[in-house]
Amino acid sequence: MTERTFSIIKPDATRRNLTGKVNAVIEDAGLRIVAQRRIKMTDAQAKKFYEVHAERPFYGELVAFMTSAPVVVQVLEGDNAVARYREVMGATNPAQAADGTIRKLYAESVGENSVHGSDSLENAKLEIAQFFTDADIVG
Ligand code: ATP
Ligand code: MG
Repeated sequence: MTERTFSIIKPDATRRNLTGKVNAVIEDAGLRIVAQRRIKMTDAQAKKFYEVHAERPFYGELVAFMTSAPVVVQVLEGDNAVARYREVMGATNPAQAADGTIRKLYAESVGENSVHGSDSLENAKLEIAQFFTDADIVG
């Protein structure tokens, strides 16, 4: 089934000029980038985005990291896009990520792990709506 998922190229990757290399992995995996914008996330945006992790010990560090440099927010479209992109990203901890995944190739640590991808279709819809309107998405 064709789906849309939400992706973020995180500050560790934009800082190292890896936007194009990450996008190449995404496109080579058959996912289409149907919306994309480079932004500096505000503190409020990052806090809201990672609200589900508010009680986790790394929440403050995560919000600080996500606002430390520009990010690229994206909508990806393709067959089973939510699960497919999770495969393409690899495990949260790059030490456990499979060969060829974005995190194996580029992530620096479990926190600074280069990309985000929605973990369910329901969350994908909510996350896309936080950063894009329907008119921004050209499929
Ligand atoms: P994401 O939600 O970014 O796609 P994920 O679903 O693989 O990643 P989550 O468990 O949802 O992982 O954690 C969200 C983010 O919080 C991680 O991607 C990472 O940036 C950060 N994070 C997770 N665990 C840790 C940790 N132990 N220490 C520091 N940061 C962490
Ligand atoms: Mg997650």
